Amino acid sequence: MSSDNIKVSIKVRPLISREKNENCSKEWLIDENGSLSSVSRGHVFNFDHIFDEGSSNADVFEVIAKPIVENALNGINGTIFAYGQTSSGKTYCLSGGENDPGIVILVVNEIFKQINTSEMANREFLIRVGYIEIYNEKIYDLLDAKKTAIEKMFENQGEVKISQIEVMASSSDVMLEHFRRGNELKRTGETAMNERSSRSHSIFSITIESREKGSSGGECKVSTLNLVDLAGSERADQTKATGERLNESKHINQSLLALGKVIRELSSGTGDNGEKFISYRDSKLTRLLSASLGGNAKTAIICTITPATIDETLSTLNFANNAK
Ligand code: ADP
Ligand code: MG
Repeated sequence: MSSDNIKVSIKVRPLISREKNENCSKEWLIDENGSLSSVSRGHVFNFDHIFDEGSSNADVFEVIAKPIVENALNGINGTIFAYGQTSSGKTYCLSGGENDPGIVILVVNEIFKQINTSEMANREFLIRVGYIEIYNEKIYDLLDAKKTAIEKMFENQGEVKISQIEVMASSSDVMLEHFRRGNELKRTGETAMNERSSRSHSIFSITIESREKGSSGGECKVSTLNLVDLAGSERADQTKATGERLNESKHINQSLLALGKVIRELSSGTGDNGEKFISYRDSKLTRLLSASLGGNAKTAIICTITPATIDETLSTLNFANNAK
């Protein structure tokens, strides 16, 4: 296993009006060496890619996501995660903001742009999408208007599968419409006080199948590209959670820890116990993504941070550092 397959980057967002109103100042700066350093505590971090607050999602896409799309079109699985505390910009990065289309939109457009180039003219493509949410270790189908919980997980040829809805998408518009509808469903029943979407993981997955036109026995390439908006990484003990919130936080901590462990095992090439064992089984998230993490699959983790907090941002940067 080569850690070349795992890329970790940082995306800093600008201070938002709430932080400005609370007189927050910028606790993190990118210094002249391109390192990210804390103003008051002297921590210094280095990463291959730090996207500063002036960066657009398109800047992140060009460097981080586009190579993964290109691989996916050639049959190589890929996963892009947005990791960070609530309100650090995960959803903004994936879904976009005003005049700043998100990674999902840019990825989808790129796929359909590339399959329509002359180099791809001799191949035919079949593309389908699925969209699920993992909340409290239960999986919900966001392409099912009833948002049914998916109970069964099974293994097929070593791959973990679930009976989720997958729909064919023949254009970027069709695909993005499914994304939009899934997002609406994700937010139904949610109030500002009880914002479930930031306490669940969501996985938008695009499966690309292709083969040479007119060939019946020709090589078929299949790959899945997952775009994952992770639950907020803030720790339960810091939010003084009780009851249902505490339960949610435990599940989030458990699955993010499992993800961190899997990534560490993959990037070090060996498991924590010295063997090449990867702990996919420790959470639904890592089980579901096991076929798309490891092997020759390409993984990118975009760690989103606000410059306004010290400790939570530090925890994200430590996660990112460990995943390198
Ligand atoms: P998360 O999904 O991590 O909880 P959001 O993506 O919802 O965080 O972002 C929190 C707030 O910050 C939102 O109001 C969002 O519009 C804003 N925001 C995030 N990233 C940026 C950015 N790069 N530029 C401007 N505003 C941003
Ligand atoms: Mg979010």
